[in-house]
Amino acid sequence: RFITFEGIDGAGKSTHVESVAQHLRQRGAELIQTREPGGTPLAESLRGLFLHQDMDGLTEALLVFAARRDHVQRVIAPALAQGRTVLCDRFTDASFAYQGGGRGMDLQVLATLAQWVQQGREPDLTFWFDVEPAVAAARRAQARDADRLEQLDLDFFERVRAGYQRRAESAPGRIVRIDAGDTIEGVAAQIRAELERRGW
Ligand code: C5P
Repeated sequence: RFITFEGIDGAGKSTHVESVAQHLRQRGAELIQTREPGGTPLAESLRGLFLHQDMDGLTEALLVFAARRDHVQRVIAPALAQGRTVLCDRFTDASFAYQGGGRGMDLQVLATLAQWVQQGREPDLTFWFDVEPAVAAARRAQARDADRLEQLDLDFFERVRAGYQRRAESAPGRIVRIDAGDTIEGVAAQIRAELERRGW
């Protein structure tokens, strides 16, 4: 199984990758936890460039998809082939939301890149941590680490959120909206309920 975690910066998704991992491990799943952009030495190097250099939307898209290609080929596809569960913090939906919604990149171009890079492989389940951009901004202000992207304005994150909303509407069986404005315990309960509903 391939499970991904999505949402705007400050939605809290990374905190909950761990709780999903615990839940599935207790039920005997062998799993790996990984993230994007990154997940391989090459893709982590690309992540460093991506986070700290200014670039336009198309360059962003090409870099993120290049990193994704390496990650799918070396880590995600082999793990799935061995029957492992893969938990990935962000994947292609983030490209549609950030490069598409946020930066205004042509969605058709992104879909073509996705097709090349994913070779038909899609997540089985995606948790979309949805929260008001203002709430997420307040959470980010409390966290220490800030890269060039987390300083972006509320309008940008509104567009990213709208990008996720469109993706969720186009893949209702796969993308599950989590109300990430809830408390940590509340969010964990929403996630557990979804996993149990699927018998996972
Ligand atoms: O999820 P994480 O915080 O690790 O993402 C790192 C940064 O890269 C974030 O600021 C995120 O918004 C940004 N990002 C992006 N486009 C992607 C994936 C991540 O702008 N496709």
